[in-house]
Amino acid sequence: MADAIERALALLEDVTPLAADCGQVCDGRCCQPSADSEGMRLLPGEQELLADDGFVFKDADGGVLLTCGGRCRREMRPFMCRVFPLFPYVDGSGRVRAVYDPRSFRLCPLTRNRARVPLRRDFVRAVRRAGRILMQDTACAAFLREQSREIDDINRLLTLTDERPPIARRKLR
Ligand code: SF4
Ligand code: SF4
Repeated sequence: MADAIERALALLEDVTPLAADCGQVCDGRCCQPSADSEGMRLLPGEQELLADDGFVFKDADGGVLLTCGGRCRREMRPFMCRVFPLFPYVDGSGRVRAVYDPRSFRLCPLTRNRARVPLRRDFVRAVRRAGRILMQDTACAAFLREQSREIDDINRLLTLTDERPPIARRKLR
């Protein structure tokens, strides 16, 4: 289990949604602690790999939640932070795609402006590849499927998965 997670995390170590630091535009909103956030959901078995003094772990329905103080060591950031605002979505036949996570809509300007601001191709590919690696692990596969069904539920209102893949069509400078 740890091996699949480590490989998935490593794939996402250096890639970022844009060539520039998107946090400069929104003041790093996805890292700002908020009163209505219940925390970041971790992959099954991921907690054991995360060692940062600022992390607090809490058992919850369906897994472990992480809360942070808005700062962490970059190499320790969890999977969900690495793929944000995308998610490796698993469809009914088990195929993995990188899609905008509709749960990022309220927070992230990249999701809201997705038609005008394409994401880096290597980031999108890394999210998809990481998902495929995690699908080789039974517990992580169950987690991705469960999260994907949650995305389906939200997308009955917001249809972000039906749009074209979030890849840059033009070479980004
Ligand atoms: S909220 Fe979106 S745009 Fe802002 S830092 Fe996070 S991923 Fe980047
Ligand atoms: S764990 Fe790190 S990357 Fe994730 S929200 Fe907290 S500070 Fe940001």
